[in-house]
Amino acid sequence: MEKKYNVDSFNLDHTKVTAPFVRLAAKKVGEKGDIVTKFDIRFCQPNKEFMTTGAIHTLEHLMAEYIRDEMEGVIDLSPMGCRTGFYFTVWGDRTEEEIANHLVNVLSKVAVWDKPVPATTEAECGNYRDHDLEGAKKYAARWVEGIKATGWNCYK
Ligand code: ZN
Repeated sequence: MEKKYNVDSFNLDHTKVTAPFVRLAAKKVGEKGDIVTKFDIRFCQPNKEFMTTGAIHTLEHLMAEYIRDEMEGVIDLSPMGCRTGFYFTVWGDRTEEEIANHLVNVLSKVAVWDKPVPATTEAECGNYRDHDLEGAKKYAARWVEGIKATGWNCYK
């Protein structure tokens, strides 16, 4: 099928998916056979709800730091501009189920986080005052509950 846009997620029909979910957004194979996979980690139902900047920012700090303790080959985890979720990019040919299981482990810890949020000093963060741990914990708990209840697939 002909794609309208260069960016994978612009071609996704956001009215057809049900959050929360983990969706394989792209798989790239390099000249030497290395594989990079990119996932759409959705927290909020598109165009119905979005996270506050403080909550998504704190979620980013906690997830980006602790997903690297959970699994090998992490390249990047970054918030979406629409504030409904994150992009997560890893080395290797990974499945949605594998990524969902790792994220359930990380976000279960985030949901009850009682330690300092990593890298929240003026030297370590680009907007260190804009953090909301209570909001991040709420979204983390809800994501885990949703995935456990209805699964990681985006088409429910
Ligand atoms: Zn930051």
